[in-house]
Amino acid sequence: MTDPVRLAARTRALRSELSDFEPDPERAEWMALELRGVLSEHAHRYYVLDDPILADAEYDELIGALRQIEDRYPHLRTVDSPTLRVGGKPLPGFEKVAHPEPLLSLANAFDEEGLRAWYARCLRGLGLDEAAPVALVCELKIDGLAVALTYRDGMLVRAATRGDGSVGEDITANVRTIRSVPLRIPAAGPEPAVPGSVEVRGEVYLPLEAFAALNDRLAEAGEKTYANPRNAAAGGLRQLDSRITAQRPLRFFAYSLGPVDGPRPGSQSAALRWLREVGIPVNPKATRVEDIEEAVAFCRHWTGDRDSLDYEIDGVVVKVDDLGQQARLGAVSNAPRWAVAFKFPAREATTRLLDILVNVGRTGVIKPEAVLEPVGIGGVTVSQATLHNEDYIASRDIRIGDTVVVKRAGDVIPQVVQPVPAARTGEERRWIMPRECPACGHPLERLEGEADWYCVAADCPAQFIRLVEHFTSRGAMDIEGFGSKLAVQLAEEGLVQSLVDLFRLDTKRLESLEGFAGKKARNLVAAAEAARHRTLGRLILGLGIRHVGKTIAEILARRYASIDAVAAANEEDLASIEGIGPVIARSVVDWFAIGDNRSLVEGLRSVGVNLHRLPEEEPPAETGGLAGQTFVVTGTLEGISRKDAEDRIKRAGGKVAGSVSGRTDYVVVGESPGSKADRAQELGIPILDQEAFLALVPEA
Ligand SMILES: [Zn+2]
Repeated sequence: MTDPVRLAARTRALRSELSDFEPDPERAEWMALELRGVLSEHAHRYYVLDDPILADAEYDELIGALRQIEDRYPHLRTVDSPTLRVGGKPLPGFEKVAHPEPLLSLANAFDEEGLRAWYARCLRGLGLDEAAPVALVCELKIDGLAVALTYRDGMLVRAATRGDGSVGEDITANVRTIRSVPLRIPAAGPEPAVPGSVEVRGEVYLPLEAFAALNDRLAEAGEKTYANPRNAAAGGLRQLDSRITAQRPLRFFAYSLGPVDGPRPGSQSAALRWLREVGIPVNPKATRVEDIEEAVAFCRHWTGDRDSLDYEIDGVVVKVDDLGQQARLGAVSNAPRWAVAFKFPAREATTRLLDILVNVGRTGVIKPEAVLEPVGIGGVTVSQATLHNEDYIASRDIRIGDTVVVKRAGDVIPQVVQPVPAARTGEERRWIMPRECPACGHPLERLEGEADWYCVAADCPAQFIRLVEHFTSRGAMDIEGFGSKLAVQLAEEGLVQSLVDLFRLDTKRLESLEGFAGKKARNLVAAAEAARHRTLGRLILGLGIRHVGKTIAEILARRYASIDAVAAANEEDLASIEGIGPVIARSVVDWFAIGDNRSLVEGLRSVGVNLHRLPEEEPPAETGGLAGQTFVVTGTLEGISRKDAEDRIKRAGGKVAGSVSGRTDYVVVGESPGSKADRAQELGIPILDQEAFLALVPEA
């Protein structure tokens, strides 16, 4: 591939040629050739290197020009033309394709023990002793659809699904629409040279973001959604109309070579390198490791880190690297002995949706929640899951009594993904969103343009409980020992009817309550006492103003000296603060406009809660000597911690950044600095040693 600078120049020249292009046959031939060459390089940069230098619209413009030429001079069209990617006419049905060599399935390992047992079997099979290292290749197991691509003389001539391993379906027209699959691979260059015929095996998948967007679109159109990206990818590939496939941003990762008509790389890792060299995308995380312990570590890492990827993986495939060793190990029934799939714990399960309840949130938002027949997902029993909102349930036609797909991923609350309509008995019933608050009976409201319903009653007990939970939470006023159960108990006993009551709790009265034996009452009163002196930012956060989270609360506390100053600010003032938009400004003004809320502030004042900015919330002195200057600190300074150094800079009005860039004014360099010092030198940014730095910011 040429370098990006040359490619950009070539593209510019081509575009200017196109602007006054008169299609005579000779020039058309040259132009088609040039366009194809440039377009395939751009596709490679975009889809394989992830480093495009051309906007999508420009790419489309060049494709359009090529298509025009080919339409006018059909003999100039070639099988590797990128114009074939956009999808041709619907197919009558899929041709069956017999695979020249079957696509085997893999044996599974469900834990580290299983993985080690597999390795021990490999060693025995190779006649090696227990301690012998056998190099392995670890590859992420992409949750997509397996396909086999055949290149003949460098041209993509056929793509087939795995099917049953022996016979698949011909999906060549659809795979041509996947832009990261090269239609042609270079004949010369890689070692060994591209053979007359080669089969490339890999996985077609749909990135997570595209999957979510596709499902939203389908749900909105009242069509059936997909349970997971794999099904969506399969659905896309098996479209008889490749124009529909072309609309799904499918991707491809190659993972091995099938039959090769000629010399082949001598190991799996060499095969992956070879594939990369000929421009076929290979997953960048694939790694050669020297023994089983490194493979176990790889599996462990990705078990925990799978959510950092923008595609689904369901495990790791571990393969013996050396081809000779692979051949000696051979296969058993329909699985090779030299590879194993380490499977991650499941994240999805199907179970019955027993009921749908609604919860009232702090802001009055009403959230439908699924009551499930308990089901184990990846070692955790799940009996509740979110259903998001009324529209989500309606658009996916989720009914009470349905068998449903439930997904639990990472730290996210489990969610009902979709029903399984095929499992219906006819007993299922549609759910209707209640029109009244389940806690206070007040009619619910749904605002224009919002998916959620709200209870707007000021005295809604459920909202009050949520507010108490929020106000006392660790991130806000941090009253230790408070929780949801206690909030309910104290509210029901009439002891806490407003946030102010939290600061009027009385040990004697508490001790008379059930479960308040021993020190519990005294501890609670002491915790509330301590919370009187929290920062202004924590107080603002605790009030539960809509859209005001931790960051916004802190911004407000830095800008205004007291809660009264915040209350006095108008929308214009607020919206002029960096980080605060008109919606938040509006929400703050609205909150203070409500009489009950102003009374709450007065109540808090009367019980001695701090309503002023504390010294630690003071804004940096904008007039300080370092105002407008950006610093980066690297290395160890003697007798002063990194944090102290940074605090000094901030107190003097300067800013501290984490990395060196063109906007950095000074880099402070201590002992054993990292690459930041080199970077500063490269960019010619002034470097301060410890002495110079301390002279600039003497201790206040
Ligand atoms: Zn209510």
